[in-house]
Amino acid sequence: MARSGARRHLSSTPVRSAGGVVRLTSEAYPNIVRDERFAQVTAEDVAFFKDVLGSDSALIDGVTSEAADIADDIAPFNEDWMRKYRGQGRLVLKPQTTEQVSRILAYCNDKKLAVIVLNLSRMNNVISFDEVSGVLVIDAGVILEVADQYLAERGHIFPLDLGAKGSCQVGGNLATNAGGLRLLRYGNLHGTVLGIEAVLPDGTVVDELSTLRKNNTGYDLKQLFIGAEGTIGVITKVAIQCPQRPKAVNVAFFGLESFKHARLAFREAKSQLSEILSAFELMDATSQNIVQHVTGYTRPLDGDYPFYCLVETSGSNGEHDYAKLEAFLEDVMSKEIVLDGVVAQDETQAQTLWKWREGVPEALGHVGGVYKYDVSIPLEEMYQLVEDTKARIQEAGLLNEDLADTASAAEHPVSAVVGYGHMGDSNLHLNVSTRVYDKRVEKILEPFVYEWIQKRKGSISAEHGLGVAKKAFIGYSRSDTMVKLMKQIKDLYDPNGIMNPYKYI
Ligand SMILES: Cc1cc2nc3c(=O)[nH]c(=O)nc-3n(C[C@H](O)[C@H](O)[C@H](O)COP(=O)(O)OP(=O)(O)OC[C@H]3O[C@@H](n4cnc5c(N)ncnc54)[C@H](O)[C@@H]3O)c2cc1C
Repeated sequence: MARSGARRHLSSTPVRSAGGVVRLTSEAYPNIVRDERFAQVTAEDVAFFKDVLGSDSALIDGVTSEAADIADDIAPFNEDWMRKYRGQGRLVLKPQTTEQVSRILAYCNDKKLAVIVLNLSRMNNVISFDEVSGVLVIDAGVILEVADQYLAERGHIFPLDLGAKGSCQVGGNLATNAGGLRLLRYGNLHGTVLGIEAVLPDGTVVDELSTLRKNNTGYDLKQLFIGAEGTIGVITKVAIQCPQRPKAVNVAFFGLESFKHARLAFREAKSQLSEILSAFELMDATSQNIVQHVTGYTRPLDGDYPFYCLVETSGSNGEHDYAKLEAFLEDVMSKEIVLDGVVAQDETQAQTLWKWREGVPEALGHVGGVYKYDVSIPLEEMYQLVEDTKARIQEAGLLNEDLADTASAAEHPVSAVVGYGHMGDSNLHLNVSTRVYDKRVEKILEPFVYEWIQKRKGSISAEHGLGVAKKAFIGYSRSDTMVKLMKQIKDLYDPNGIMNPYKYI
């Protein structure tokens, strides 16, 4: 089944200016000051890189070029997918081989050149695929969707799926340890990646491109690169275990009375659907009201309920899986765990149901700016964070849930406090939608949200990483000892600090 792309949950403060132009990160974060140790890129450096890459088209040169449109060519490389950050890089390099990456990094390290934009789109080959073991070996610049299509033709599936699949690269997925929609079923990349090749800042090539599932010979150092957000090296090749592609996908959608009932339904889903359960997603009533308000879609269920869940199964026998899902729904309805539900009859209906989950972030974006928190919390208390946050905002008199009322924006800036997410992974997306940016809202939210999560031993970043936004808050989820160990690793692998400076750690 082809699924439409999920729009992702942005984190924290909206930083777009009124005209829609993304503010420079250096303006949005004035406390980040350029480190004087780093050199500026010169014409001599550009000449060296041209020599390494051997082709003018492998480089976008905003340093020496006088072409009128060069700034436009570089602009997309300076902005992130959330349109939240904007850098000022003037040079983009597109290496085609690991050796070129190695020479570029070694040069940058020697010259103390930081923040060169490396784009691996020309490193995009499938190196090998074993149809028996399901092990795929590819260049890190392969687009996720391309890898998945290649596997689909061979009856297999990439064990990661997300809305960005048409543009993101497998190397980027590893670097961010992307979670996505198949995590409940296939686990995260720390489990599925078997090997990597990477280049360290000093140019050393780490050849750990193992295709073995078992290899207990010393520290498993490849894991350090997964989720490192490019801070200790550039991943150039990936070996990954790919499962058999499911032949049948079924989807059910249902309404529930409370979060407690959603938990009970999840327990039943795990027990009754077991090996075919592939997604269990949660949406609260506010999130669904906003999707309807923005899209005008017809609701899947007749009544209104405080909570909704979407269950997906992926298996090898469509009829059998459908019967199992229907029996599950009948059972949970007879036990009054679920109040009403529907099972998609075909792929089109399944996609329509998914839109009620995947459409939430986009719909929220239409009603104003959004403060976004992507957090992990032990399941029992997962939704409590939304309720406690909403209560605080209400107490402060900042909430007016009438979406049509824009007149009182200054007095009541918050239009919605919403919770949804990958319930099967205990991953909640807390979104606070605002009509206008208001410092009072930020003060209510932070550090309250982070402290709340810390008390429950949760994570302040479940799948979106640290980057610039969460760097300062790592202490809410990691002990001083862990942060110290991380800094030691950073210093060991990247002593000159040239890899993604000012971020992560
Ligand atoms: C529509 C949409 C939906 C999304 N849905 C999800 C989701 O469901 N779950 C989820 O977890 N995430 C989701 N994301 C975020 C997504 O995981 C990341 O955007 C993606 O994995 C990053 O890959 P990229 O190639 O775009 O990397 P980039 O954005 O180019 O880079 C991301 C980071 O990784 C580093 N990096 C990139 N390539 C390499 C490499 N080869 N070696 C070392 N470091 C590297 C960069 O320096 C940077 O720090 C979504 C994003 C979008 C746009």
